[in-house]
Amino acid sequence: MKPEKPPMPPLSPLDSRPAIFKNDDELAQLSASRRIRYRLVGADCRYHANDNISAFIKEGELDELKAEVQAKLQEVLEALVIDTESDHNTHDTAKRVAKMFLTEVFKGRYTPMPDVTEFPNITRLNELMIVGPVTVRSACSHHLCPIMGRVWMGILPNEHSNLIGLSKYARICEWIMSRPQIQEEAVTMLANELQGRVKPDGLAIVMEADHFCMHWRGVKDTGAKMINSVMRGSFLKDANLRREFLSLLDRQKA
Ligand SMILES: [Zn+2]
Repeated sequence: MKPEKPPMPPLSPLDSRPAIFKNDDELAQLSASRRIRYRLVGADCRYHANDNISAFIKEGELDELKAEVQAKLQEVLEALVIDTESDHNTHDTAKRVAKMFLTEVFKGRYTPMPDVTEFPNITRLNELMIVGPVTVRSACSHHLCPIMGRVWMGILPNEHSNLIGLSKYARICEWIMSRPQIQEEAVTMLANELQGRVKPDGLAIVMEADHFCMHWRGVKDTGAKMINSVMRGSFLKDANLRREFLSLLDRQKA
């Protein structure tokens, strides 16, 4: 009997699963982005726009990625029919934007989590603590347009919580936000990171942001801000605590 479908051709690293194991020499033939992707797929690791993939990038590969992105962006400029040869303004644009993506605005994808020292809650702090506003500079995954905003984090520690320095909250926040993001997912990611490290009784996060894809394109509504929040543990159970957090936050906003 003949099979109904012809057998599948072997999968390449660009497909969902690598069919064959590649040795180092074969991997070295690939571009850096394909090499990194091969490792991610092999490890069954998600690599969405807002995921951190730094564990899969080897030394020197970030520079290779930069060169690769620069070459592709140059092609985008050519496809936009921009004469980057004689237009001195756009001559180095591809290079500048590649560097900006990989080492500035999306660096939270390519660099490991900032070093954060945790110390035990010796003095058994159990009062509501609010960190913020922390400035958010992000970009939407849909249009790669900037998202500029502020984040407040409310933490209710217990005696088993690990404490981290105040400035570290801002650094963790920046690390998560400097990726193409969706605001709802960004606050959840931030909440998960803090929950895992600090292990508080309650955790509340509020983010308020301007989405430039609303101003620059689309409905061109300049007044619109998006506000969303995540409440966990005692902030969910205790309405008074929630009220206290939100009123302290309103006072700060004013
Ligand atoms: Zn957008």
